[in-house]
Amino acid sequence: MEAIFREDAYARSCTATVTAADEHGIRLDRTVFYANSGGQPGDTGVLRWAGGTLAIVDTVKGDDGPDDVIHVPQAGAALPAPGTAVEAVIDWERRHRHMRMHTLLHLVCAVVPGSITGAQVGADKSRVDFNVPTESLDKEALTAAVNRLVAENRPVTPRWITDEELAAQPDLVRTMTVKPPTGYGRVRLLDIEGVDLQPCGGTHVARTGEIGPVEVVKIENKGKQNRRVVVALKD
Ligand SMILES: [Zn+2]
Repeated sequence: MEAIFREDAYARSCTATVTAADEHGIRLDRTVFYANSGGQPGDTGVLRWAGGTLAIVDTVKGDDGPDDVIHVPQAGAALPAPGTAVEAVIDWERRHRHMRMHTLLHLVCAVVPGSITGAQVGADKSRVDFNVPTESLDKEALTAAVNRLVAENRPVTPRWITDEELAAQPDLVRTMTVKPPTGYGRVRLLDIEGVDLQPCGGTHVARTGEIGPVEVVKIENKGKQNRRVVVALKD
């Protein structure tokens, strides 16, 4: 399966051929739909073909490797048969917010010390959990630091390294709970120039300026060393 979203996060649609279809979902030979993983929700959208349209209400990962993408159909809808040529179209407004939010979470990670214990991207609010020393984080200072990185409009670039290169640089992995998928020969890194470099398979905007103005809305105390930073886009 060709994961178009990994090389081109801005692709809103593609043509594809159905390779499998049952009540759990539809597999295509290529897709622009991002499957729920790494804290980023799966895409929604539609599949269109000669004589049919199908709403896709979620996209999830199958159990056949990182690029096994399952398009979850609206319950009870008629499915395209294997071999059908379809046009796959994502809900771009929702996805673009996820891209802005996801990139924003990388900036938050860059300005907060400590390891990451969890993260969740949402279209309206997102959060990152940190294992940080007991010192408290300052909401206004974090908001200012992140907005500065947004204003600097830094390039955001995915690239690949081999499993061996990653193993030689364990400092790259800041997330304690989610290890990058190794065993496939290569791992995708997300590079925000001069700010953050870590393994990530998600979708991001091309420059930090595209995130727009942001706000740290809340810093919650979730235990002795656990701080939850909640962020929102201001438009
Ligand atoms: Zn990412």
